[in-house]
Amino acid sequence: MSTAVQPHLGILTSGGDAQGMNAAVRAVVRTALSRGARVSAIYEGFQGMVDGGDGIREFTWADVSSILNKGGTVIGTFRSQDFREWEGRRRAARNLLQQGIDRLVVIGGDGSLSGLDQFRADWPGLLAELVEAGEISREVAEAHPALMFAGLVGSIDNDLVGTDSTIGADSALHRIIEAIDALASTAASHQRCFVVEVMGRHCGYLALMAAVAGGCDYVLIPEHPPEEGWEDTMCAALRQARANGRRDTMVVVAEGAQERSGEPITSARVRDVLEERLGEDARVTILGHVQRGGSPSAYDRWAPTWLGFEAALEVLVATPDSIGTVIGFHGNRVTRVPLIEAVARTREVPGLIRDGDYAKAMSYRGQAFTDMAQIFRELVDPTASSDDRSTGKRIAILHVGGLAPGMNSAARDAVRLGIRRGHTMLGVRDGFVGLRDHDIAELGWADVEDWLADGGAELGVRRTMPTVNDLYAISRTLEEQRVDALLMIGGWNGYQAVHLMHRERDHYPALRIPMVCVPASIDNNLPGSELSIGSDTALNVVTQAIDRLKVSGAAARRAFVVETMGRYCGFLALASGLSGGAERVYLHEEGISLDALQADVAWLRESFAAGRKLFLAVRNEEANPLYTTDFIARVFEEEGGGRYDVRQAVLGHVQQGAAPTPADRLLAARLVSAALHTLDEQFAAGSARSFYQGLSDGAIERFGIEHLNDDIDAAFHRPREQWWLALRPVLRAVAEPI
Ligand code: ADP
Repeated sequence: MSTAVQPHLGILTSGGDAQGMNAAVRAVVRTALSRGARVSAIYEGFQGMVDGGDGIREFTWADVSSILNKGGTVIGTFRSQDFREWEGRRRAARNLLQQGIDRLVVIGGDGSLSGLDQFRADWPGLLAELVEAGEISREVAEAHPALMFAGLVGSIDNDLVGTDSTIGADSALHRIIEAIDALASTAASHQRCFVVEVMGRHCGYLALMAAVAGGCDYVLIPEHPPEEGWEDTMCAALRQARANGRRDTMVVVAEGAQERSGEPITSARVRDVLEERLGEDARVTILGHVQRGGSPSAYDRWAPTWLGFEAALEVLVATPDSIGTVIGFHGNRVTRVPLIEAVARTREVPGLIRDGDYAKAMSYRGQAFTDMAQIFRELVDPTASSDDRSTGKRIAILHVGGLAPGMNSAARDAVRLGIRRGHTMLGVRDGFVGLRDHDIAELGWADVEDWLADGGAELGVRRTMPTVNDLYAISRTLEEQRVDALLMIGGWNGYQAVHLMHRERDHYPALRIPMVCVPASIDNNLPGSELSIGSDTALNVVTQAIDRLKVSGAAARRAFVVETMGRYCGFLALASGLSGGAERVYLHEEGISLDALQADVAWLRESFAAGRKLFLAVRNEEANPLYTTDFIARVFEEEGGGRYDVRQAVLGHVQQGAAPTPADRLLAARLVSAALHTLDEQFAAGSARSFYQGLSDGAIERFGIEHLNDDIDAAFHRPREQWWLALRPVLRAVAEPI
């Protein structure tokens, strides 16, 4: 940057800590440095600028090395009382200006962000007072007429109105679901009741999402207090679930749950109700600070990295007239909301709950939240909503493609939601092979009891595409089983097969039924959806593998070349490169040239000579047919001249073999619910169109299967448009420049 005065940016974390804050700090620091700015970390939240001195420390590139995988915040956080006072803010302004800092990125909750807004409002007054008292010169005050800032939301509660996700919420959900999965296995052995209390004083996000992703039976959240007599309703629901095949009982309570009267509903109270009315042994588990702990999830690394990148850029180009914003996400797109507006709306929620305006309180949480509340109600109710089964249809579920963690969760949710909506649900074994060979059977509510947290595919999955010859046998099965609709939960070949059947429907009348594709593939290469079920799980597996590799290489001078799956889609490689802190990512979308490899080698040599200890490159499996992982590793080794050694790690099928993450389970629930709605619409209209369902811009979308070829790059089996390519400049900014 060739401006006369080099901008100097301050970064701080404040309020409650959250996993992923470090990723944001690292991104802000490195983006600022990569743009030629100076950057200082302000320690212990606002207190660091009140105290000055060591509380404000200028950072270099290396100061944020090796922090990406750490929970909490390495620059500390604090609830500063001093900053709430004018005098504290006056000292803060003086200390900042002594360093020439008038640009801030603050990562915190709504409290911290409103503190920031207060500081902005007071800034001119504070400066006037400092000039008056002779603590700063008039020139300094005139050179810094306004405080320019951006806010990022660090909050495990996901409680800020105006952004779909906050830093730390995904990791907290990981901790909660690990606990619920563990409890479920012991609870089922003893037919026990568990009451799990999760954080969320005013926000039921963690509780509701945990209830869906954990397969729980009942949930109590602040935004939707239960009606009077809820104890009876709850116990009746739990009895019914047991009668229908549930072996354990799991109730999730948000810490801020309350009755309509405002009377708190504590976990102890719920336990007493269960013991008294159900006569069962009930245990309470309060997860507490465990939810804030541990290494951040993959999402809480790549997403805050992106936010930090955007925040640094925004603050660096800000002018004194700029409006400070909160930078967040709408789906997988970065959005900006004026800070005052976001804070004001967030603070309205407790009042709305107090006034009994639950519908508005719920709506402030966004569409995904209200959808999920409805999905949860349906998932736990084993009774068909329609008494007349003759109105119900017969829907067959099958998996096609490679195994994706979350296929089981999706099939389980589809069975339960389908039954609830009055349908008969059929499971097809081994994809189109089973449909051809008549391997199909009805699935009941209890049959899918253990599927949710299981990473495999109980129905079996095959890549096999039906040939035109198979279509006759498939038609016979569909006719004999009176199948009214197909729900294909799978990957590329599944989409192609549904497209083929759609085209052949004139020849085979039995194929004239509605069919819906739900994206499930670790490759994340399916059209119509920003994410496919399984991709978040695979990403977490790769990220954890990278963490371990880094530990293994810490004692040596080592370069790693890690190969990920993804076929021709580089999502997994790029996102894991961001989450794992890679210096270099090789994608098919960008290609690999010999010139680039040569530049990488030259840089590696120099960099290790200058003291580097570790280097990480992530290569997508199809990045280049000739420059293979092995080839790149050998080139690095040979050209390194012994300055470092090189290891390659082809991660292979471990990427498909994990229990689905909370995000994948939630995505599965949302997508199959939407797919069943799509089918219901087709039934109601007497129509037989086919679709692929997806998540786009945070909203559920669907596309007619006839458009499939318009949306895909058929040669490379990936969508034409790939939103995540926007992450490439982010990686370049935070990875050491090569
Ligand atoms: P969170 O940011 O997690 O919501 P808090 O509400 O505790 O956490 O706020 C964190 C810090 O932000 C406070 O300790 C205080 O230093 C600062 N802060 C909050 N509100 C204000 C305010 N109105 N004026 C000045 N500072 C504030």
